[in-house]
Amino acid sequence: MALLRLLGRVASALVLLALLAARPAAADERVLPTFAPACHAATEAARPEAAMRGRAGWVCHNGDWRSGSEAAWLRFEASAWQGQDLPRQFFSRIARFETITLTAIDHDGTRRVARYAEADAEPVAAGPVFRLPLPEVTPATALVLVRIEAPHSVPLLTEARLTRDMDHAAWPRIEIMLLAFVMGMLVLPLLFDVSFFLVLRERFVVLHAGLVSAMMVYVLTAGGLVTAFARLPLAAMAVLGPLSYALGAGLSALFLTDFLERGAQSPLLRRVTIAIAWFTIIVPGICALQLGATQRFDDTAYFLAFLPFILVITTAILEAVMRGSRSARFIAVAWTPIIIASVERLLRGLGAHVGPSSLDQMLFVALGIEVVVISLAIADRFLALRRERDAALTEAKMLEQISTRDSLTGLMNRRAIEARFDELLAQGFDTFALVDLDRFKAINDLHGHQVGDAALIACASAIRASDRDAVAVRLGGEEFVVLLRGPRPLERAEALRQAIPMRIAQEVPGLDLPVTASMGVVMLAEAGRHRMAFAEFYARADALMYEAKAAGRNRLAYERLTVFNAPPESRSKGEERAA
Ligand code: GH3
Ligand code: MG
Ligand code: MG
Repeated sequence: MALLRLLGRVASALVLLALLAARPAAADERVLPTFAPACHAATEAARPEAAMRGRAGWVCHNGDWRSGSEAAWLRFEASAWQGQDLPRQFFSRIARFETITLTAIDHDGTRRVARYAEADAEPVAAGPVFRLPLPEVTPATALVLVRIEAPHSVPLLTEARLTRDMDHAAWPRIEIMLLAFVMGMLVLPLLFDVSFFLVLRERFVVLHAGLVSAMMVYVLTAGGLVTAFARLPLAAMAVLGPLSYALGAGLSALFLTDFLERGAQSPLLRRVTIAIAWFTIIVPGICALQLGATQRFDDTAYFLAFLPFILVITTAILEAVMRGSRSARFIAVAWTPIIIASVERLLRGLGAHVGPSSLDQMLFVALGIEVVVISLAIADRFLALRRERDAALTEAKMLEQISTRDSLTGLMNRRAIEARFDELLAQGFDTFALVDLDRFKAINDLHGHQVGDAALIACASAIRASDRDAVAVRLGGEEFVVLLRGPRPLERAEALRQAIPMRIAQEVPGLDLPVTASMGVVMLAEAGRHRMAFAEFYARADALMYEAKAAGRNRLAYERLTVFNAPPESRSKGEERAA
């Protein structure tokens, strides 16, 4: 529980930090415009900059973007910032690359060049973006050429912009606030999972916690939130985002197979789902590393590798829903927004459609929804398991009742008293009063078994405990035992014995003679410190009973035992007759 409190504190600190970092710009802060490239191109690495100064070889519409080339080019023209503040910074969406060369070219052919390696790029706390300072741009500058060697993603190109000062650029702070909110939504289910696991120990809870953690890393890195409170190198952010998404996706497929009820999935589809889970962790996982060797295709491969995943889990959910799975319905609600947002992201990542990075917010919100709905599903499962457990407990209790109670009188039976005897002795029940009805066989013979049974029931109600200092037991036949604790045990035992004939006479009419009882009472001094077995009490009480019967019945014989650490023991004996 201390762990939970700590987690809770860390989580709220994180959310607070993120919110602080995302506080809205002050009213007097000017929002600066950003400038998009006029044209773009993809070439082999050897293409010289001089060859790109002209108009040839450029794509000058928003389409045909490619990330798999050796070099990507962006052409920013001065007409874009005419009459506005001259740009001083280049920024774009985080992804891996080798170098970025920024060249400002004046009308008279003067060139100013700045060349940067990946490690020079500075992530900025305004979404998943990094910035680089431009070489000086003057009113005489005609164009800015950007050369990106080995770009690893299309959005690195489509979202590249120039501006005067990144910190004052038109970045919708609301996006970062939304991210912070999603982070908050993710923290709670994680705490939820931890506390569920403490009770449930189910693997799907662990898988869900893993999934939520992966999604937190995704929101922090792919959403750029982490820059608000930590300085990660661009390469780390570029890799952690897609890697955590692939891991989260794989874990979600594993979670699916584990969380669905038995029989909600056909064995074949289950195997396929598990295989696709590992495929999704490994293949997009390797692409996410954005290694030099895979640069030509990893962007495309990363996104394409999610297609089978989407296909398989959609099929698996549909199958389970059709098989009547309750969990699958929760999962369907939870995952539909993610699947839709992922397909959009997939198409955008492949360059099939170009949209602003703010579309990513859809995915983040979908993640928040997923995590909350699945937590509800886990809570639902939790309640179901508890209902099952309660039902089992009730049944166990019933069975225990059946096995510990005498069915005719409802008193405790011999098995139960033997099992609990030591415990009762320790609780101070140190008087063992054996009861046997006198000449009971005759009652049966004269009036029949049913009347005999009624007499036994009446006898049981006469000796049934009315307080917490007596325990009545039917040992078998017409033989009972009353265990007593507290003061004056002998008087109380005698009172019970005398109550028996009266009670039987009341409850069983038509008996011509009273049904009396004899008692053999054994009292052990300081029973709490001295142990004596049930069998020994019983044997002693039975011997006393024999004496009482022999002396004419309807009476009580007793003995007081004082047991020292070892024998010798002292005893005093006596006999009482009914008045
Ligand atoms: P004593 O005074 O010496 O105890 O005489 P008794 O007739 O009571 O002696 P004994 O213990 O031999 O007889 C017990 C009788 O109790 C035998 C049996 O018919 C009767 N009995 C035992 N269990 C039941 C029962 O569950 N229902 C009924 N109706 N009778 C029972
Ligand atoms: Mg008897
Ligand atoms: Mg008997």
